[in-house]
This record gives sequence, C-alpha cells and structure tokens, in this order.
Amino acid sequence: IRRLEEAVVNRIAAGEVVQRPASAVKELVENSIDAGATSVSVVVKDGGLKLIQVSDNGHGIRYEDLPILCERHTTSKLSTYEDLQTIKTMGFRGEALASMTYVGHVTVTTITEGQLHGYRVSYRDGVMEHEPRPCAAVRGTQIMVENLFYNMVARRKTLQNSNDDYPKIVDLISRFAIHNINVSFSCRKHGASRADVHTVSTLDAIRTVYGISVSRDLIEITVSDDNPAQPIFKMNGFISNANYVSKKTTMILFINDRLVECTALKRAIEVVYSATLPKASKPFIYMSIQLPSEHVDVNIHPTKREVSLLNQENIVETIQNSIESKLMSSNTTRTFQTQITNSLSAGYLSVKRESQINPPLSGTKSQKIPVNKMVRTDSRDPFGRLHAYLQDGVVLQHEKKTDLASVRNAVRLRRNPKEAADLSSVHELLNDIDSTVHSGLLDIVRNCTYIGLADDVFALLQHNTHLYLMNVVNVSKELMYQQVIRRFAHFNAIQLSDPAPLPELLMMALKEEDLESVDSEHDDLREKIAEMNTELLKEKAEMLDDYFCVHIDQEGNLIRLPVILDQHTPDMDHVPEFLLSLGNDVDWDNEKECFQTISASLANFYALHPPILPNPAGKGIQFYKKDVDEELLAEAETAWAQREWTIQHVLFPSMRLFLKPPNVMATNGTFVQVASLEKLYKIFERC
Ligand code: ADP
Ligand code: MG
Repeated sequence: IRRLEEAVVNRIAAGEVVQRPASAVKELVENSIDAGATSVSVVVKDGGLKLIQVSDNGHGIRYEDLPILCERHTTSKLSTYEDLQTIKTMGFRGEALASMTYVGHVTVTTITEGQLHGYRVSYRDGVMEHEPRPCAAVRGTQIMVENLFYNMVARRKTLQNSNDDYPKIVDLISRFAIHNINVSFSCRKHGASRADVHTVSTLDAIRTVYGISVSRDLIEITVSDDNPAQPIFKMNGFISNANYVSKKTTMILFINDRLVECTALKRAIEVVYSATLPKASKPFIYMSIQLPSEHVDVNIHPTKREVSLLNQENIVETIQNSIESKLMSSNTTRTFQTQITNSLSAGYLSVKRESQINPPLSGTKSQKIPVNKMVRTDSRDPFGRLHAYLQDGVVLQHEKKTDLASVRNAVRLRRNPKEAADLSSVHELLNDIDSTVHSGLLDIVRNCTYIGLADDVFALLQHNTHLYLMNVVNVSKELMYQQVIRRFAHFNAIQLSDPAPLPELLMMALKEEDLESVDSEHDDLREKIAEMNTELLKEKAEMLDDYFCVHIDQEGNLIRLPVILDQHTPDMDHVPEFLLSLGNDVDWDNEKECFQTISASLANFYALHPPILPNPAGKGIQFYKKDVDEELLAEAETAWAQREWTIQHVLFPSMRLFLKPPNVMATNGTFVQVASLEKLYKIFERC
C-alpha cells in the first residue's frame, strides 16, 4: 500500500466536481451570480474543451484573496457550520475553482470597486503561477479555463467523441436567464458574432420565455415610496397594457429575489384592471418587490410559496394606486374611457367587494403561537367566551348598499383614497400627531432592538448602549390610535362569525363596572342604560361603519370590527368595555373630538393589555391551583403566549415603522432608561 500523492488525490476529486465542460460553466456562472453580477457572458470554444470564458460585472475579487482563491476549501461564503442554515448563495464549498485548476489552466482577471486597475493571474494545481499582474479591466471578473482535462486523457477522449457540450451549455444559460430575470446573460461560440442566448433585460427575458405577443404589450412600472409612513418598500416590474388580451392572470412575483405568491396582491391587481380597462382581460404582471426580510412572513403556507407582508394592506394599496394611474396615463394607441358611469352599476360593486378581500394576513388565524406553548391541538379552535364570535376570513367593508350615494361614495373611496381623508378634522388630528413628536424617543423607537418582556406590562429594549423599559400597553395604545387616524375610512374588516348582541354585551360591561352590586337589584337600571346606549350606537351606525369599519346592524348586533394592525386581532374579552366606552366616552357633537374619542376607544380596545386571566407563568399560577381548572389554564397559557408573540412580531416591527411617540411619553414612565452599558462596564472594571 502506498499513499497517493496529493496532486493525484486532488485531481481525482477535481474530476468529480468538474465532470464535463457544462459543469464548469455552471460553477462559474453561479459564482458570478453570487458575486452580484447583473450581466454574465459566456464564450465557449470546442465545446468548452479548448476554452470556457465567463465574464461578469460582479463585485470582483480582492487582491489579497487572489493567492488562496484556487486552493481547495477556500470560500467567502461560509465560515461556520451554522452558516449553512442561512446561506443564500449557490456555491459554498469552495471547491469549484480549485478543481478547475487541477484539470485545466485557469486565468483570472478581476477588479474590485474603487481600484484604478485590475489584476490578472494564472493558476495551476491550486496555486498561482506568478504574482498577480496589474492590467486594464472592466468592472467585475473574467475567468478563463483553457484546455480542460488536458491531463485526463480518457476523459478528454470520451468528451471529444460524444457530441460536444455546447448545446448543454446553451440550455444551461437559458435556464439561468429565466430564473434570474434581473441578470442579463449571453452565450456564444468563440468567434461567432451572434450570441445563442442573449438577454439584455428583463423585457428580453420575458420575450424569450413568454413570446413577443406578451412582451410588446407591457409597460414598465416602478414605485419607490415617498411615503414616510413606510419608507422601506421598493417595487419595479412590467405590467400589461390595454392591448393585452388573456383569459388568465400571469403573475411572476419576486419578493426579495425569491419567487413567491401573494394571493391578496394578485387579486388587488386584477381588481384594478377590471375597474380601469374596458376590456375584460386578465393582466400579465412581472413584479419585483424589495422589503426588509423581517417584513415578509413566509410561514403562512406550508410550501412557503405564499407569503404575507407586514402592513400588507398599505403596500397593496400603494401598488394598486400606481398601477391604476399607470394604466390611465399609459399612452397606448388605444384610448379608453374610464368607467365612471359604468361604475354606478352593480358590476362595480362586485369588484369593490373583491378588493377588500385580503385573505389570510389580516385574518385572526395568521397569528402564530410558539409551538412549545401551543396547547390546543387545533390552533384554529376558538378559545374563550367571546373569541367564539370571531370568524376566519376578512370581509369587505362596504357590503351591498343599494342607494346611489353610497355606491358613488364607495367608488370614490377606492378610486382616490386620499379624498376620504379630506375631512379637515382628520388632517388636524394627523397634524396633532406630527407636531408633538419627541425626536429623541423617535430615534429610540426607530432603531431599538427588542430584548424581551420584563414583566406583564414592560418590555426591555436596547438602543445603542442604553437599556430601556417600555410600557407595552401605553405604546400599543398610542400606536393603535395613530393607525386608526391614518387608516381612517380605509380599514379591512374582521368579521364576527355570529352577530354579537349589543344589549347583552353592554349589560356585561355595566355589571363589571360596579362589582359591588352584582345582585339583580340594579338590573332594571342597567337594562335601561344598555338599551339607551344600543339605540345611540344604532343611530351612529352608518358613520361608525363608513369611517371606522365598526359595523352595527339594525337589530343592534355588532357584526364587524376594523383591522388596525395587520396580523393583530383585539382581545375579544374587551368587546363589552369597548362598546360601553363608545356609548359613554365619545363626544358626538364636534367632528374632530368625535373622531378623536372614537379612535381613542378603539385604541384602548386594541391595545396589548395583559390578558384578563392571570399569567400562569408567574404568581398567577396560584389562581389556577385553587380549583385545578385545566381548561382555563390552557386558555390562559394560549392567551399569554399569543400576546407575547404579537408584541415581538407585530407590535415591535410596526412600532418601528409607524409610531410617532408624543412628548408625554418621555415623562410619564412609558420609556424608562434602566441602565447604560458604559456604566455597567465601569462597575465590572472595578471588581
Ligand atoms: P464557492 O463558490 O463554493 O465559494 P469557488 O471555488 O466556486 O467556491 O469560489 C471560491 C471563491 O472565489 C468564492 O467564494 C468567491 O469569493 C470567489 N469568486 C469566485 N468567482 C468569483 C466571481 N466571478 N466574482 C467574485 N468572486 C468570485
Ligand atoms: Mg462556486
């Protein structure tokens, strides 16, 4: 037995990684894509045996990395085993380039950003043949592999005899072109003037894949929001124009470069098309959306194709608006009338309905509970007394209304959402919010890191080197209030599965209010109050529904509630209290005050109060020991776990984006600085 020479071992290994020219091309192109290239071109001679040359405009390779570039297991993409779970690039073993140097001659020319000139260096058997030489270079990297398998006679022979690899390479590049719509590819034989795969743009890729009949009827669209309320969303893409005809919607949606589906968005776009264009054609949409990844929830569908977005409603609306205005202004050969007149017919209403269906996201059930804290076998089981009223779906805000005025109103609302907030009092309320912002707190809120819950009411967060306690109840209340004002008249709805009778709910609330006389002695009086409040709310029902999506029917039942923060459903145990506060605390006479007090009532209702049941994780557990009530305990555990999840995954991200903390929060104990790390370090030093 003899130990093999290392060079032989490496060559055998290399032969496995690079089996044929096409596999070398694949590795090189993947490296280019990993390097962020938006343009990759491939030149091939003799089916790749004489020459493979891949040029890209990626980030290049740093001078100091060149010496080890082609050693085995050198990679910039992975450093610990754990990285494997989060890696997004395609290659990561660091073997491809090394392998090529053992079975071919590799020359690398590269330049990194900001450098005056590039470097060129050749490799053999994993090492540089000479020091890198300065040379002229265009942005990116060019890797040339010559005489592949020069030292593997048998391999070279079989490859020469079989049909050459060029068709395989062309096929490979075409696939890359379809998958990487933002990268332009070209592939040609050495010396040929025409490329066999050639995509220079997204539009080209679409033409190649879907045909010219699609690509000629597309208009480009970009949205980068100038809306300060959601400054993180970017979209670009292509949408079909008025000339395009198809029975079926094609939607190619990338969110953060992942091919995904978003039913709500697709529906919303179809709605715009059927409302804007006279012809009943379904659209072709290619759309790429960039969002911070924590704003995308991929977990709502098991195959992880369907996604939902934090604050999806706003994003969907922004996109709807931009598509609508694009379609209206697109200067195609066809002039089409807007459907103002037609929209008064029932047809528009059904369109309107669809637009409001905004499935799973804002529904109650997209709430997640940490698996370890899950108690019920079916998380969809309604729990708690009033939770049972809550229904799965989300429904439209404006249901069939027959009178012309409300139809017109509905149309106007959808066509130009800004008009709805035309009411000057709403503007004033918005200004009030803006004018009392505390800039220091705003900075903390925008840039803090969530650490965890300190107790039932306070969360711990870090900002720079300071630790703060933040009152979750106060903050969520303020955030809800601000969102109600911002979403004014534009709410999605939470539908109660059963109508909830106002008089009974009000009675519950009244009994809760004065616990001393629970007995029936005051019931008559309470019933009177409940009855009066019910009448009052029925009277105000239309306004409550139009502006706040609090729908009360003529029989005096609560039917729907608004979605104030996506993915957040209020604690239904507080419904009675909410209704009572609508009756008692709202100033119905003055418009501004009225909107403000209703918003405050809603905010208080939706705020993240500690659940009514004592916290089983703390002292509260005693409460359950007395009369060992398993079911109650389970209910409490679910409620608390759910709240904790919501605080971390809904409240915090939304707070960062939307909250404008008012001045009072700096002094009323909502934010309290508890430690400064510098000081802590000083204490440690002394020990
Ligand atoms: P891997 O891709 O598995 O990391 P490779 O052997 O394919 O291993 O590449 C080694 C390293 O060389 C990569 O990690 C990357 O840092 C660098 N590299 C290779 N090709 C390119 C390129 N076209 N542009 C920029 N860097 C590259
Ligand atoms: Mg690689």
